[in-house]
Amino acid sequence: MLNWNDVMRFARDGNPSPDRKVVKTAAEWRMQLSPEEYRVTREAHTERAFSSEMCSLFEPGVYSCLCCETVLFDAAEKFDSGTGWPSFTQPVKTNSIAYRLDKSWGVTRVETVCNTCDAHLGHVFPDGPPPSGLRYCMNAVALKKATHA
Ligand SMILES: [Zn+2]
Repeated sequence: MLNWNDVMRFARDGNPSPDRKVVKTAAEWRMQLSPEEYRVTREAHTERAFSSEMCSLFEPGVYSCLCCETVLFDAAEKFDSGTGWPSFTQPVKTNSIAYRLDKSWGVTRVETVCNTCDAHLGHVFPDGPPPSGLRYCMNAVALKKATHA
């Protein structure tokens, strides 16, 4: 199970290798994604809080990257953070998500991206529920829900 020390180590010293890599040009991503999906996943914008009903859905299933369909989270790790963004406390696999130090807005945060296709997903914070203590604060638009893995 990942904790905050692991996250900071990955962000500072480098991330684990993904199982595969998906690389597309900006033009190819624009063809595949809606303008809003493109802004969030490829330009690291943040969707409006409470903009998706995904925040309040807790049915079993898995959440995949919208861009490359890599499975990122299991619904069993989802919790109600009250923030207005879907929140998880642990990824499905250690190497499914990559971490980057984000110094925009004058504070240092840890950005999370899909380790397979580099899609911006959101940020991770050290104020999640035990035992991991992690809160993955995700843009709903960056995720795709499937009932089965
Ligand atoms: Zn991806």
